[in-house]
Amino acid sequence: MAVNEEFISRILSICEAYADEPMSRHTTFRIGGPADVLAEPASVAQLKAVIDLCGEKNVPFTVIGRGSNVLVSDGGVKGAVIKLGPKMSSVRFENGRIYAEAGATLASVYSCAYANGFAGFEKLAGIPGFVGGAIRMNAGAYGIEIKDVLESCDFLENGELKTVSAEEAGLSYRHSIFCDRKDAVIVSAVFKCENRAESREEILREYLTYSAKRRESQPLNMPSAGSTFKRPANGFASRLIDEAGLKGFRIGDAEVSTKHAGFVVNRGGATAEDVLKVIEAVRKTVFEKTGVTLDPEIVYLE
Ligand SMILES: Cc1cc2nc3c(=O)[nH]c(=O)nc-3n(C[C@H](O)[C@H](O)[C@H](O)COP(=O)(O)OP(=O)(O)OC[C@H]3O[C@@H](n4cnc5c(N)ncnc54)[C@H](O)[C@@H]3O)c2cc1C
Repeated sequence: MAVNEEFISRILSICEAYADEPMSRHTTFRIGGPADVLAEPASVAQLKAVIDLCGEKNVPFTVIGRGSNVLVSDGGVKGAVIKLGPKMSSVRFENGRIYAEAGATLASVYSCAYANGFAGFEKLAGIPGFVGGAIRMNAGAYGIEIKDVLESCDFLENGELKTVSAEEAGLSYRHSIFCDRKDAVIVSAVFKCENRAESREEILREYLTYSAKRRESQPLNMPSAGSTFKRPANGFASRLIDEAGLKGFRIGDAEVSTKHAGFVVNRGGATAEDVLKVIEAVRKTVFEKTGVTLDPEIVYLE
């Protein structure tokens, strides 16, 4: 069934929601047509009610967090987009663990560890995603991944609240069991703090070192979704793209960043179509020159 007025008024009786909401407002690429409806539940109960309603009315749903690893089609997203963000973003420390809701930023998880004198989150703090998206993607940077700090997470699936350990979550390079279980929505996570620092200054110094590295190497002043491609075996996608002479390659307003060849940036008015064309051209050229097939890391939503 399509989203209609009755569906929207029922969603609005559950939580904050917006009809025909431009997804460009909810993605770091600043690209994407409208979602039929975008709902922002503020609790697991509200989330469950929204998902139940989608099931009852046969409306497909898609969950997003910060929208920092997605490319949304110019035609938008059919059905309901459920955003788990600032409205479900509590973070607390208890007994050597950090309990975070899915919409908490990785930066706030780092801040909580810092405030309690624990190291181990400094390299993850600069990843712009929220906890749910970061677990789904097993996000990582500078040799550390979510896999290394996650103890367990809770998720809703088929109306049931379930828990998996980090091991059961099947975290591997930019992958987890959640990539293959489209109806499973991560609602919260427990992170382990095992590394008590000598001093908070030491944690801060490490954090500042890696923030500076990011600023030096990444086009953080331009909209993007981070690394476009996964790391191929034996190498870096950015190096292959750079060596293929593709830095600055542009279609419309979508461009292979001149600062970091692994990023595609939006120069202002890029469409999803432009980005897809750049991705295809880059894959084709790199394959022709090196024989390596690059697989996109970015998730395409429509
Ligand atoms: C400037 C920049 C730098 C980046 N640097 C890095 C980096 O160093 N390392 C790295 O790994 N990534 C990096 N990224 C990519 C991105 O930030 C991460 O993949 C991040 O973890 C995605 O989180 P998100 O909340 O934005 O997820 P989204 O982009 O909103 O969603 C990503 C996927 O997860 C799903 N999802 C989101 N929330 C949930 C949930 N609660 N339950 C189930 N599924 C969910 C979505 O459906 C989608 O399939 C970078 C991105 C940018 C823009």
